[in-house]
Amino acid sequence: MLIESIIRKTLGLKRHCVKNVKEEDGHLIVSLTPDKRFRLICSQCGSKCPGYDTLTERRWKHVPLWGIPVMLAYSPRRVNCAKCGARVEAIPWSQGKSPLSLPLSFVLATWAKIVAWQVVAQLFDLHWNTVRKAVKDVVDFGLENRELDDLLYIGIDEISRKKGHVYHTQVYDLVEKRLLWSGEDRTSDTLKAFFDELDVKRCDQIQAVCCDMWAPYMEVIRERLPNALLVFDKFHIVRHLMDAVDQVRKDEARELKAQDPDLLKKTRYIWLKNPWNLSDNQRLRLSELEKLNLKINRAYLLKEAFRQFWTYTYPAWAKKYLDQWFWWATHSRLKPLRDFAWLIRRHQDDILNYFKVRIDNGAVEALNNKAKAISHRAFGYRTSETFKLALYHGLGKLPMPQLTHKFL
Ligand SMILES: [Zn+2]
Repeated sequence: MLIESIIRKTLGLKRHCVKNVKEEDGHLIVSLTPDKRFRLICSQCGSKCPGYDTLTERRWKHVPLWGIPVMLAYSPRRVNCAKCGARVEAIPWSQGKSPLSLPLSFVLATWAKIVAWQVVAQLFDLHWNTVRKAVKDVVDFGLENRELDDLLYIGIDEISRKKGHVYHTQVYDLVEKRLLWSGEDRTSDTLKAFFDELDVKRCDQIQAVCCDMWAPYMEVIRERLPNALLVFDKFHIVRHLMDAVDQVRKDEARELKAQDPDLLKKTRYIWLKNPWNLSDNQRLRLSELEKLNLKINRAYLLKEAFRQFWTYTYPAWAKKYLDQWFWWATHSRLKPLRDFAWLIRRHQDDILNYFKVRIDNGAVEALNNKAKAISHRAFGYRTSETFKLALYHGLGKLPMPQLTHKFL
């Protein structure tokens, strides 16, 4: 029969065959049976073994055919393995205890990368939770089978969930640009959990870590990766500088409130943007403001001067420039800039490491933005586990199970 042979071929059956296909309450029930010509395979060790006994029938939801729901039905055999003892045989279409066939998980998970999980559920007339299970099966497979032996540079950052009420620590592979790990919270224990899972041998291979000046992370990185270079992320440093400049503007606007309340109105981006990105109007306004002896203008000039720091090739020259800038900033009579200068001074060595290994979290920023979009796609239930699942699925670059037939 054609339908039997299509099912056999698409499932890639070798040691099993299709006994029959029946219709039952609008479902196609595909009964499978072991092919007696072959010996069974132990699911634990993969060796060929004699049969032991037969378990009760299990059913797997399979990929629908022309919109008709399909179930696979099979009574798994147990094998008598010389190494492992009595074990369930290997069932190629099944993944552990999952009620979904491997191809169905693959199909649902592939769609779940593109559209909202709720939409996938509607398309296949399934519950949202079934789609979640499919993604979990595929992610579990990917995490188990991914390559982690050549980690060189990692980047650590955090993202917030629930409008900033919950934080997740994100660890990225900066070379492959993939998410390695995600864990709720941003404490030292959070990051320790990552290194525990990674194991010591792999930790030893990591040569540099890029992160923000966040004490709980720094402490763990120095403890767990004593030989790796800690590089403070350029983008975070610049953000701290921008915050300082903006603080000067706010303070000065408050001081000028009585005298000239409109002078600094709507100038925030004029001071923060790159000068070459200003609109004509903004450029005009800036040149007017520059003529006045404003504090924000001094802060602006310091911000622009800091740009040169990143252009050096040799750490010694970069340090020389940083010392110079430090002197300017600490003599600027601008408290936010002075505070920033001291922050930089305290972490100077790790900032200068950038000139030894040029890594930054620019890629992380892009991945974090993608993470936000992905988390919207997953939502149904806003739990931390689902959030992580969606992130691994979307950003982990995880290997997918290899199927004989793609079904899509
Ligand atoms: Zn075995």
